[in-house]
Amino acid sequence: MKLTLIKPNIGRREHSLYIDHGRMEPLMLGVLAGLTPPDVDITLHDDRMESVPFDEATDLVAITVETYTARRAYEIADEYRARGVPVILGGIHVTLIPEEAAAHADSIFIGDAETLWAQVIADARKRRLRPRYQAPVGVAQLPNALPRRDIFQGKGYLPVRLMQFSRGCRFACHFCAVSEYFGRKHYLRRIDEVVREIVEQKLRFIFFVDDNIASAQAELKVLCRELMPLGIHWVSQASLDSARDAELMRLMADSGCLGNVIGFESITAASLQDAKKSPNIPGFTDYRREIEMLRQHGMQTWAAFTLGYDHDTRESIRATERFARRQRFTFAAFNILMPYPNTPLYRKLEQENRLLYGGQWWLHPEYRFNHAAFAPIGMSADELTAACHEARSRFNSLPSLLYRFSDLQTNMRTLWRMVMYWRYAMLFRSEVHQKHGMRFGLK
Ligand code: SF4
Repeated sequence: MKLTLIKPNIGRREHSLYIDHGRMEPLMLGVLAGLTPPDVDITLHDDRMESVPFDEATDLVAITVETYTARRAYEIADEYRARGVPVILGGIHVTLIPEEAAAHADSIFIGDAETLWAQVIADARKRRLRPRYQAPVGVAQLPNALPRRDIFQGKGYLPVRLMQFSRGCRFACHFCAVSEYFGRKHYLRRIDEVVREIVEQKLRFIFFVDDNIASAQAELKVLCRELMPLGIHWVSQASLDSARDAELMRLMADSGCLGNVIGFESITAASLQDAKKSPNIPGFTDYRREIEMLRQHGMQTWAAFTLGYDHDTRESIRATERFARRQRFTFAAFNILMPYPNTPLYRKLEQENRLLYGGQWWLHPEYRFNHAAFAPIGMSADELTAACHEARSRFNSLPSLLYRFSDLQTNMRTLWRMVMYWRYAMLFRSEVHQKHGMRFGLK
């Protein structure tokens, strides 16, 4: 049997095809390959930089679908199905709105793959795929089924290996699809399995793609102690409350953590309340205490902001960018607040009749990447789009890059960190303009 795994692209720029130069290995497809019986012949096609060979013979096509890639994923699925090849769609977007995905697939997979993927393969061998596989949500990656990284070879991915310790998060931020998907819980892998994967697969620089690696802080401390002898470097995503625990910070730094993506979201208390960003709210003043703690431990922070709350204005967005630059954050994302399907934010905006693009921005032919998909209160949607783009441009300007680089505690701490800073800073700088305004899908 031959299985084809597909990672869809977002889409294209107005007058040319888009190639994602900052692409990372699609871990979820490596995990799926690891769950597949070894006698199945597996091929990965990554639509972000290679064309999909629709006429190549295969017995089953499995496509991972995120909200941003849904339109392109459905185009690819439709092409295969027109050739009589069975297609199964899975991923967080499919679980959040299964009916939409079902219109483009022979079968949809809801929930986490671990417990039911073997059944899908068995059914596909008999050419008797069920229309829907409903697996439980919230299963940690299985023991004895390590991801298959051989399928990533030769694809030109960034030299950072993706892996997982946990899934989900105990918080319930208003806009967060992860929180909706996992029902405000986290699920942990066995720590000896995490260590085994690192040692067996010789991973040296790791991005733990956990939704919030600090959701279970006691367990994270245990993991850090186990990582210390391995001599690795790692980065991840962590909620801000982790920066109030000195012991955790020390353990993270000693285990090789270089820094994390941290959701600051906003610099105003009113917007944090709007976002229900509970890890940031206790004792909120100006983040000075937390940022000092991060810098003391050499953490190169990627600060993530979401902009467009009801209390935000064009001036507050400018102030957010100035704040990020003043703090010399290694990187920062100025994301427009996005109404992901079936989140509390989506339902609120729907009730208030503020959703644009018919409430389905991810499928709408007029929607463009990084544009506002709802009507904000303090400005127009176009003004919000422009203010966020301006914030990204300013933060990634050369004077800003040089100023942020000058931090001896973080970006200039070692020669290796200096090299990494410039390598990724230049990549993200080019992406600001490359991705902005992209169409979704190729058609
Ligand atoms: S802390 Fe992060 S992962 Fe957790 S609910 Fe909030 S946005 Fe989602």
